[in-house]
Amino acid sequence: MPKLTQADLAPLNQTFDERTPQELLRWAKQVFGDRLAALSAMQMAGSVVCHMMSQLQLNSPVLFVDTGVNFAETLETRDRIAADYGLNVITLQPDLTMTEQTEKYGVLYLTVEGQQQCCDMRKTAPLLKARGQFDGLIGSLRRAEGGKRDRCPILSVDPPMNCVRINPLANFDNEQMQAYIAEHNVIVNPLHYQGFATISCNRCTTPVLPNEPKRAGRWRHLGPWSVYCGINPTDVDGGTGPSVELSQDLIDRIFGRVTDFAI
Ligand code: SF4
Repeated sequence: MPKLTQADLAPLNQTFDERTPQELLRWAKQVFGDRLAALSAMQMAGSVVCHMMSQLQLNSPVLFVDTGVNFAETLETRDRIAADYGLNVITLQPDLTMTEQTEKYGVLYLTVEGQQQCCDMRKTAPLLKARGQFDGLIGSLRRAEGGKRDRCPILSVDPPMNCVRINPLANFDNEQMQAYIAEHNVIVNPLHYQGFATISCNRCTTPVLPNEPKRAGRWRHLGPWSVYCGINPTDVDGGTGPSVELSQDLIDRIFGRVTDFAI
């Protein structure tokens, strides 16, 4: 099977920096067709992507990983987005309930090593159940989030999922996002208005003070050692990996070699 590397995507990423999120979403649908999905944790940026997908009538599913210890507000946001935006939200779950996991392994999220194991079992492994079903996976990472995301590419290879990640909001700054939310009255997880800058499991997420970094509320009990869960390969050092394996036809479509719809 032909390989597609992160380096291969560099020229396209340069061109795509000039494109709007909607143009990028349309491109993704044209290239990946029925093998395109989005991944959302039902945070603010994910809501914006879901709203855009609905407006553009992409008819692509949205994957949501329910770790079993999400906030009730997050699950309500998922249900509202599915109903109001007419999206097919597919919920993926870990094999073990949190109770079963704790009985087997102890309370993992209380240590740095255990946190990684817990995130692997409750976030990454459920997503990997969808491996092979999709060649393109839309995310909602933004460079304005800072940290490891400050140079997040629009397109990246995802070796564990063997697909291409598309982050159409990579260039969307905070002002643009707030303006879009206000203009379209986007459904937003209410926890964002209660001091939660980012939102994950209820065991490991706290609000942040106005002068704290946005991700200070994640794994606060572990100190500064754990900031990312690893479900997004570009958050992990070396996570962009060497390559993914895709059909030559799809690689040609990504680069607009066969069809005339390259943007
Ligand atoms: S965020 Fe915490 S509870 Fe959730 S999967 Fe990661 S370590 Fe486990």
